[in-house]
Amino acid sequence: MKLTQASALVLVDFQRDFLAGGARAVPRGEDVVMRTNALLEGFSSAGLTLVATRDWHPAKHASFQSEGGEWPRHCVQGSDGAEFAVELVLPSSAWVISKGTAADSDAHSAFDGTDLAERLREAGIEALYVCGLGTEFGIRETVLEALEEDFEVVLVADACRSFSSQAARSAGAVEDMMRAGARIASSGAVANALAAFTG
Ligand code: ZN
Repeated sequence: MKLTQASALVLVDFQRDFLAGGARAVPRGEDVVMRTNALLEGFSSAGLTLVATRDWHPAKHASFQSEGGEWPRHCVQGSDGAEFAVELVLPSSAWVISKGTAADSDAHSAFDGTDLAERLREAGIEALYVCGLGTEFGIRETVLEALEEDFEVVLVADACRSFSSQAARSAGAVEDMMRAGARIASSGAVANALAAFTG
């Protein structure tokens, strides 16, 4: 694996509502905070592009049970739950991409209804290193759409966590991504590639 100026880190939905005590918590999501911070620090020190996506819903959102959807109220724009995790050290250079902002439709993919693909292309980005929460929704949909948009995708698997505690469901999502063309790497392998990065 070799990182270039065309490589970017995409951190998916590392928000309080997706962590312990949050409205839609990902089991053991907090376990990946250290790895996530190391990846952010590494990409930032190398001067590479960082993207942090966030679920960012209006107060009455179609995905909420109160509106006939399947999820509890979560990540309401401006609420504490929608904030990035307290433990996360997000460099100020990171692009923040808000998704799910329309009241009448849900968007798990960071490319759905956003200008992310254009911004990445304008910045000359070709390869995305994806990590975050959770594997079967935000990550899976973002990765599949990134591949459709012709970006290379590397899933940093040990820096992802899934909503389901059933290994089979998360493995199924990873299989879907691999079948669509995503590669898998460990955060250690990415750290080694960052150490070898010379610009
Ligand atoms: Zn949501």
